[in-house]
Amino acid sequence: MLTNIKINQDRLWDSIMEMAKIGATPKGGCNRLALTDLDKQGRDLFISWCKAAGCAITVDRMGNIFARRSGKNDALDPVALGSHLDTQPTGGKFDGVFGVLAALEVVRTLNDHAYETDTPIEVAVWTNEEGSRFAPAMIASGVFAGVFSEDYGMSRADLDGKTIGEELVRIGYRGEAPCGKRPFKAFFEAHIEQGPILEAENKTIGVVSGIQGIRWFECTVTGQESHAGTTPMKMRRDALLGVARMVDEINLIAQAHAPDAVSTVGLLQVSPNSRNVIPGSVFFAVDLRHPDDAVLLEMANDLEAVVDRVTSDLKLTHDLQEIWYSPPAPFDKACIASVRRAAEEGGYAHRDIVSGAGHDAGNISRVAPTAMIFVPCAGGISHNESESATPEDLAAGCNVLLRAVLEHASA
Ligand SMILES: [Zn+2]
Repeated sequence: MLTNIKINQDRLWDSIMEMAKIGATPKGGCNRLALTDLDKQGRDLFISWCKAAGCAITVDRMGNIFARRSGKNDALDPVALGSHLDTQPTGGKFDGVFGVLAALEVVRTLNDHAYETDTPIEVAVWTNEEGSRFAPAMIASGVFAGVFSEDYGMSRADLDGKTIGEELVRIGYRGEAPCGKRPFKAFFEAHIEQGPILEAENKTIGVVSGIQGIRWFECTVTGQESHAGTTPMKMRRDALLGVARMVDEINLIAQAHAPDAVSTVGLLQVSPNSRNVIPGSVFFAVDLRHPDDAVLLEMANDLEAVVDRVTSDLKLTHDLQEIWYSPPAPFDKACIASVRRAAEEGGYAHRDIVSGAGHDAGNISRVAPTAMIFVPCAGGISHNESESATPEDLAAGCNVLLRAVLEHASA
């Protein structure tokens, strides 16, 4: 049975501000790179809070932390909720941290009211979400979900050659528990939006329906280098002219699949890049994203057609390669519905939204029913020391998290 209990806005805010002191930067942000001494301090503080709230702590072999609050029936799979504590080198106070401390605030609120859930509840902290010190990003939730092997995860190294495995041992967070094979009844991650949509539309809650898929391409278009003064316009094979037309058409590919599609050409290398030589070859990169796998594939086919047509029109040749594919991670319908219902019942203005950025929840959605809750951040700015969110919006997101979790934590 659901109650109308609300989380404690001041306690949530104070905890976020307390955590932000660890690795605080002069411009008001945070620098707590994964598995540094500062990350250890942040983890230690989190665990001390969880223990004070009566939780039992488990650390797995990738350093993921699970703080468990017992339920009436501890044999049931827990409802999990959480995010990450690591930051970018010039990161903000809220990215990841909000999701972890909102989860802790849910536990503290249940304690305040001596509310017993049927299933246990577990607050999760995922190691190295940011991917700034160790690439790739979201590595430990990826190992947990079977996307990467543990050996692969352990052996990722930073620029000094120190591996995740070594650094976990050094800071005392190489746990005993296996990474993965830990069933969750459901997983919820609260997070700042890191984009401008909620703020622009005056919405408090983003009901996240999934994480969009990504396809990356590299393409070299080849024509003929020749003299800019002596080569008649009709006899040119100008690789840059071809790519210019492609850039425009690649933009139209996303427009044709509005509103959810995005397409970007953000990298261009012109050769020989000389003001009086017709460009003989151009290398460029394409980033296509869409939440629906079938549409994303259609966009990839459109890209191939555009490149084929323009090169043939201008008597050029091309080499187009797909170099990365990250499939969309659609979230669980029942979990999404719980988030939407929680926003409605809380009286918060909300909208459905697709996550443009990657999150640990994308990995966890492969092994457990998952959804996310977004709250606005000022100007949509994130991965920046000036990242900011209001206490009221953060509390709203936390109240939605509480309600969604309670819905799933009853047997
Ligand atoms: Zn994050």
